[in-house]
Amino acid sequence: MERAVVKFRHCGRNIYTFADPQAGTGTGLCPVCQQPPVLGLLDAPVALPGPFSSGHRAPCAFLIGAREGPRSLGEWNDSELHVGISNSAGLVYNYTLSGVQIDEQGWEQCVCIQLIPPWRDSLVDSWDKELQLFSSLPTWAAERFHEEREFGSCCYGFALSFINHMRSVDGKDSLSRDEFTSRHVLPRIKLASMFIRVYEEILQNGFCVNDQ
Ligand SMILES: [Zn+2]
Repeated sequence: MERAVVKFRHCGRNIYTFADPQAGTGTGLCPVCQQPPVLGLLDAPVALPGPFSSGHRAPCAFLIGAREGPRSLGEWNDSELHVGISNSAGLVYNYTLSGVQIDEQGWEQCVCIQLIPPWRDSLVDSWDKELQLFSSLPTWAAERFHEEREFGSCCYGFALSFINHMRSVDGKDSLSRDEFTSRHVLPRIKLASMFIRVYEEILQNGFCVNDQ
């Protein structure tokens, strides 16, 4: 999913295409009315921001990756998703069968949910230290992975427990799994799945029309 998607209005509709139509699909005509589009002042194509970015460049964030690549991020399906927490240098801590792993790469295409406003310097400093300490707790030993599994997705439990730990350091209440998921995760997953639908349709038909 590397091509840029643009959106413009014509024929009273929102039309999505790739920014760089490949030979054959890029006729220069509006794909709906087959006329050369005369675009008005506010109809110019605008880039549709992709929902995926590199977790290694998102400091102090909650990252949602997928084993099957970003295309399978369109649905909230615990078994397919793997989540982690980045530190301020872009190292990604994630809980796996072999305990907590610290990845320098592999999270290049994921949904990144930034958790700390960049101006909270002191919180950023303690984030890294706390994340390191938290990851070495016996709770996250490899041999406990199966026990943790009974409470749902283990990597998610690790990440959310850390977020709640940092919230308590910051004097805030804990979030339940449902609260965190519905407030912070689902809106981003919905955006991602919308983008994936549009992208797949452009791949297939050369364009995608949305009447809203
Ligand atoms: Zn048209």
